[in-house]
Amino acid sequence: KIKPKPKAEPVKLLADVKNIIAVASGKGGVGKSTVTSNLAVALAKAGYTVGLLDADIFGPSIPKMFKTEDARPLLDKIDGRDRIIPVEKYGVKMLSIGYFVNPKDATIWRGAMATNAIKQLITEGNWGALDYLLIDLPPGTSDIHLTMVQTLSISGAVIVTTPQDVALADAVKGVSMFKSKNINVPILGLVENMAWFTPAELPDHKYFIFGKDGGKRLADELEVPLLGQIPIVQSIREGGDQGEPAVLNEETATGVAFAQVAQKVV
Ligand code: ADP
Repeated sequence: KIKPKPKAEPVKLLADVKNIIAVASGKGGVGKSTVTSNLAVALAKAGYTVGLLDADIFGPSIPKMFKTEDARPLLDKIDGRDRIIPVEKYGVKMLSIGYFVNPKDATIWRGAMATNAIKQLITEGNWGALDYLLIDLPPGTSDIHLTMVQTLSISGAVIVTTPQDVALADAVKGVSMFKSKNINVPILGLVENMAWFTPAELPDHKYFIFGKDGGKRLADELEVPLLGQIPIVQSIREGGDQGEPAVLNEETATGVAFAQVAQKVV
């Protein structure tokens, strides 16, 4: 009779990382990467050691949001192992598939290729000791999500949504995925992004372009914390495009708003 092989001890990946936080959204384009990059910078400014893994492999935006598109991570041999040295900016250590391939090439990868690429960034990245590693997940629920929750011990998930019905419906799916029995990742809370718009000439006005308080209501329904409501602000979009996350300007209202979300996450 053939004896079954004893199961290998699971390797504890990222043993020196205290907290791994997944940032997810149901729908694309709701500001998940914008929130992730601002959270990462806010945590670094608050004195924590922070890493950011861009797992949005089919649309990596972290390199642009940190103006590091031209960075090429160095490879090094450390303790006999090949390691990838993360790119560092604003106190955040980052790895993204965008640093290795033309993002257009990654969009046609099969699931397995994408999953392997991400695994490599996790296992070979020289992340070192971190207080927080944020993971910018792709939108929706995919193989990448499953790989992440199966290979890493994720401390909690932050869900980003706009107040719009279609975004909320997809956010619910995201929340259920993390809450499901075999995944069981605690939801740290929900960020309602693009919550309203205030024109400069009407500073007391709020236009609820995508609907009012949709994220807040969903957070109540799902009994998860509302981490913040972030308005639509031109400087947030510009900061993203220029590689200077809005939270760098901590005296502005948007800077304060992102910093407050970060405080609720720690
Ligand atoms: P996702 O990661 O969900 O696809 P992004 O973070 O890439 O979304 O955001 C989509 C677009 O919306 C980007 O151009 C970004 O700069 C912009 N954006 C995101 N949040 C805001 C906001 N609160 N105010 C203004 N523009 C925003």
